Amino acid sequence: MHPHIVVGTGPHGRGLFATGPISAGELVLVFVGPHLTRAETIDSPIEAYTVQVGPDDYINPAPPGCFINHSCQPNTRFSASDRLVASRDIRPGEELFFDYSTSMDEDHWTLLCECGVPGCRGRITDFKWLAPDVQQHYLARGMVPTWLVVHLGGARPAPPVTKRHHRQTGLPAHRRAARV
Ligand SMILES: [Zn+2]
Repeated sequence: MHPHIVVGTGPHGRGLFATGPISAGELVLVFVGPHLTRAETIDSPIEAYTVQVGPDDYINPAPPGCFINHSCQPNTRFSASDRLVASRDIRPGEELFFDYSTSMDEDHWTLLCECGVPGCRGRITDFKWLAPDVQQHYLARGMVPTWLVVHLGGARPAPPVTKRHHRQTGLPAHRRAARV
């Protein structure tokens, strides 16, 4: 983890916070932990805490990686399947976020989002269900890990909302913040 990052508490519960400036492109975090298959992850008690790193590959991240929260306007992005870099300059005191949807393609898990940023999508879904303009925003900025881009064969149009799989987990919007 970047030396200017600590685990702290903010409006979304526990999260990762910058204690000093972090420049765009600097390595922020590497997710480390046991790897699981999709079958081992789906419907397991730890499903909500995992990070998908391949079509059939998940990591159950150890601290501090388990504490990074979601935002619909993130300040980090994937530079590889298991690591995040700053997507812009980050000021001391800012909380670090990534967009969970940029590492999701499983047709299983969604969650209401309460990140509170302007333009919050309201729901965390698989990347392929994001609106085309949101997909393009992330793809154009290299914020989507290669495995997901390859797996999808590029961006897809969003389907009607009624086709989205919805599964309530009972966890608050910031799933890792709920992991105490
Ligand atoms: Zn949101």
